[in-house]
Amino acid sequence: MTTPTAPTLDTFLAQAREWLASVAPTRTERSWGQGTDSVTVFENWTEDEERAETDRIRAYERAKYDAGFGALTWSPEYGGRDLPTSYLLAFRRVEAGFDVPRRTEMFPVTQQLVAPTIAQWGTEAQQETYVRAMLRTDVMACQLFSETEAGSDLAAVRSRAVRSADGWRLNGHKVWTSGARVADVGVAVVRTDPDAAKHAGLSVFLVPMDAPGVTVRPIRQMTGGTSFNEVYLDDVELGDHYRLGPEGEGWKVALTVLASERLDSGALGLENADQAVELARHLDRPLTDLERDGVADLVTRSYVQRLTGMRVAASLVAGRDPGPEASVGKLLATDTMGRTSEVVRALLGPDLVADRGYWGTWAWTEHVLGAPGYRIAGGTDEIQHNILAERVLGLPKEPRR
Ligand SMILES: Cc1cc2nc3c(=O)[nH]c(=O)nc-3n(C[C@H](O)[C@H](O)[C@H](O)COP(=O)(O)OP(=O)(O)OC[C@H]3O[C@@H](n4cnc5c(N)ncnc54)[C@H](O)[C@@H]3O)c2cc1C
Repeated sequence: MTTPTAPTLDTFLAQAREWLASVAPTRTERSWGQGTDSVTVFENWTEDEERAETDRIRAYERAKYDAGFGALTWSPEYGGRDLPTSYLLAFRRVEAGFDVPRRTEMFPVTQQLVAPTIAQWGTEAQQETYVRAMLRTDVMACQLFSETEAGSDLAAVRSRAVRSADGWRLNGHKVWTSGARVADVGVAVVRTDPDAAKHAGLSVFLVPMDAPGVTVRPIRQMTGGTSFNEVYLDDVELGDHYRLGPEGEGWKVALTVLASERLDSGALGLENADQAVELARHLDRPLTDLERDGVADLVTRSYVQRLTGMRVAASLVAGRDPGPEASVGKLLATDTMGRTSEVVRALLGPDLVADRGYWGTWAWTEHVLGAPGYRIAGGTDEIQHNILAERVLGLPKEPRR
């Protein structure tokens, strides 16, 4: 159902095309051997580059928000237009035809994970301070969830917040925090009641990343880049107005963030899979039977991934929570990424590991070394399998600590 004032989808898309054409050139098909050959999965940026690139993407996201295309499904209160999800998905399809900046992980985290969580759990003041600002990317967020002993088992976090004279004092160590170097706010899951049952003693705080006591240390990944970091919280003093959601209900708040996390991963890896198929087409030698099999398998599986993405989209459009289908989407995405690596390894052989200066060859190291990270980020493959086993197949739940 559209709102009474909503334009028809055709009118809306015509307006969207007109606006997009005013801010970006149309995306031309990648021609083999020309332009960038980057197939990176995690960017390999210095802090200055990360900041500059984040600002470049922000400038586009702000313009989109200001033009009325940035918060389509949100209520006017947050600068949105109350449009149905089908409009959002249609906009994304049209947007993909233009050469607009590609969002890094921080953007969906800010706009699609954290902003809705604050809208759901925040006080009126928090909603006013953060939601619009995050949708417009004036304020960027990172997830201070994982710790060295608490990843899949997030409720095992040991970082603590204790009551102090002016509110709370936070201490602890978070790890694998994507985008922490440039984020303004970190959403931290911490223990506020060590005596309560594991899931009951948690609370969530919105930690200003420039607060005294917050230290960010980049972690070098095997790709050579540092897209994630360690974050130390040493006697970080926060007023109670930084607490998001009721004290002791942090697990529910965290689940709100995590529920959105898997929805966006379904299309991951498809562009690179297509590029691997192009590589096979442009090799200056015939493929072996084994290579042909690998390429055919990749093509088939990327179609299955695309179709699954459409099922998730159809559920969203129908107003249903796609639930476990999103887990299938994430698994298919990481599988496609792994198979892409296998195909390019077979096709390129030594050219994959030694840079001989040929376009579209050595660049694949960034994919091969980055892809395994996605089997872990946003819930590991094994955890996605558990979700499917328990919620779709109805198999007995595994023992919980
Ligand atoms: C690229 C990248 C970006 C990330 N960004 C962020 C971020 O911004 N913020 C943040 O908070 N975290 C982030 N993470 C961390 C990520 O959420 C965790 O790495 C992930 O949840 C797994 O936790 P862990 O590393 O502690 O592994 P563990 O949970 O210790 O798991 C180790 C192994 O055991 C398996 N395992 C664990 N439990 C089970 C089970 N019940 N059944 C079967 N197998 C199991 C896992 O699948 C895995 O293979 C990021 C990770 C990566 C790789």
